[in-house]
Amino acid sequence: MAGELILIVEDNARSRKLARDVLQYKGYQTVETETGEEALQLARTLHPALILMDIQLPGIDGITALHHLRAAAETRDIPVMAVTASAMTHNRQEIMAAGFDGYQSKPINIKDFVQAVQQMLERHRGAGGQA
Ligand code: MN
Repeated sequence: MAGELILIVEDNARSRKLARDVLQYKGYQTVETETGEEALQLARTLHPALILMDIQLPGIDGITALHHLRAAAETRDIPVMAVTASAMTHNRQEIMAAGFDGYQSKPINIKDFVQAVQQMLERHRGAGGQA
């Protein structure tokens, strides 16, 4: 089911554009921000169906932003997928231990990325998450 709103949190313009282009091509709506701080605000006001979260961001990092999202009742249930460079210090295990719902490494593999997004949205709907 396309048309769902996905929040892209990414400070790198190229990575942001790629995610936006791929998701829009697949029929999703997107909204973007370069910071975790603004992501928290957008999550509260727009309640996206999914958040794609970069880890290394200019202000608070993606893990800190995730913790804030989980701490607030109105954003707690939104699935959050980490999208981060595999060469960075945070490996997959650390990312998942932080409480993310999924993980994709950058540069993204478009096929895997789309599949992961679709699966996460389906799983969330199956779990009775908010539309
Ligand atoms: Mn970054």
